[in-house]
Amino acid sequence: MSQTLVMKFGGTSVGGVRALRQLIGIVRTARETWPRVAVVVSAMSGVTDTLLAGAQRAVAGDEAEPARRAAELRQRHVETLEQLARLNNAAVARAAIEACLQEFQTLCHAVRVLGEASPRALDAIASLGERMSAPLVAAALTEAGVKAAAVDAARVVVTDAAFQAASPDMEATQARAEAAVGPLLETGTVPVITGFVGATPGGAVTTLGRGGSDYSAAILGVALEADEVWIWTDVDGVMTADPRVAQRARTLAELTFREVSELAFYGAKVLHPKAIRPVVERRVTLWVKNTFNPQCPGTRVVPDNGQTPGSIKAVTAFKGQVIITLEGRGMIGIPGIAARTFAAVARTGTSVAMISQASSEQSICFVVPCASAEAVQHALEEEFRHELARRDIDSIASSEETAVVTVVGAGMRHTPGLAGQIFTALGQAGVNVIAIAQGSSECSISLVVLSGEADSAVRAVHTLIVGED
Ligand code: ADP
Ligand code: ASP
Ligand code: MG
Repeated sequence: MSQTLVMKFGGTSVGGVRALRQLIGIVRTARETWPRVAVVVSAMSGVTDTLLAGAQRAVAGDEAEPARRAAELRQRHVETLEQLARLNNAAVARAAIEACLQEFQTLCHAVRVLGEASPRALDAIASLGERMSAPLVAAALTEAGVKAAAVDAARVVVTDAAFQAASPDMEATQARAEAAVGPLLETGTVPVITGFVGATPGGAVTTLGRGGSDYSAAILGVALEADEVWIWTDVDGVMTADPRVAQRARTLAELTFREVSELAFYGAKVLHPKAIRPVVERRVTLWVKNTFNPQCPGTRVVPDNGQTPGSIKAVTAFKGQVIITLEGRGMIGIPGIAARTFAAVARTGTSVAMISQASSEQSICFVVPCASAEAVQHALEEEFRHELARRDIDSIASSEETAVVTVVGAGMRHTPGLAGQIFTALGQAGVNVIAIAQGSSECSISLVVLSGEADSAVRAVHTLIVGED
């Protein structure tokens, strides 16, 4: 029998009065069929950006900006709260919001005095958005007659100290979830848990990385032994392409875990890439649904079923990347060049999004984020100092800004003719393919194009899915 449901609401889904009224209706309906419902919330849309922008101004020495930002955030949260909750319910949330805004200003003062903001300080600041939205949502639910209580995930999700991209300790988190969230669920109270946030065992606040509330939902889904996790967002589900880029994008009724992982890893913002593995491993059912159109069933993510339909299902682009190329005739036959290359890259803490198929042993080429390009190039120049001096390696170069365009569909790599169709479509759209990836799984093909051509590339491949106009 269905027992526990975890529902996560993203930034736009808690972004204002209209969204919150939808959320209340959705939670109420879910409670009719699910005995235990837990809610995970993001910050109101744009709030995390505002907090971080305030902190950056403070670092630059601006004293007035954090106060201005705090006033702006106060107005937005309090106005929303006042329309949805009164008296005691509103007072509790208002006090929590006020405490967060005080903390924001204190932390901004500290980073201004220091002239720098450590990743740890930035996490303490970024976490405040969720710490304001959770009490607000709990108050709105309580006012609407749904028993609810805000829960700070810093007390539940135990992580390592990798600030800004923390990883959970699942065993410790499960124990804390049982103790802190379990009793609420047992008494029919809906816990409203802050997404994005965790804390080290010592209590330092961490975040799971931008967009990380999806990951929080997956972690809590596992920790609470949920049957299903539903991600509520502002589109009807996972679509054939980003609807902001391809206007005719359609919602996919079903995708396999592998397909959705590839899409998320290569830039489809609708799901955080780390959110998928925990739920796959525990066989929790995952749905993506639209807060503003709850009648639409959305997308169901299903286990890999071994079927290979062999068609293109979706396309995504991941901008802000560069290609790093090592070139030189002297590389032929020297053992260990590739191993040394990727060891040097790893020492910079950069993860490689894609390794391209080199035509011969004379070059190695791979893709890293623009922000890491300089550090990676230095690390490689250092590693291959002798080879460069001897001209065994002629050059280590970074390209202009590029994008990785990934085409996804189970079994497509073994379907004759598909790659040809993709290249023809790109050629007709005038898009130049710079490199082709060794796709990371059976169900995707990745190509590198100039960033400026990424949207045209997505639209061109997308016509193969939905047909010409
Ligand atoms: P939330 O705040 O709910 O987490 P996000 O903005 O993080 O929402 O993610 C939802 C957005 O992801 C959509 O509004 C859409 O613009 C974008 N998106 C990108 N690629 C896709 C895709 N393939 N399918 C659906 N949405 C996508
Ligand atoms: N509020 C966080 C962010 O903007 C986390 C999230 O929305 O998932 O990155
Ligand atoms: Mg998101």
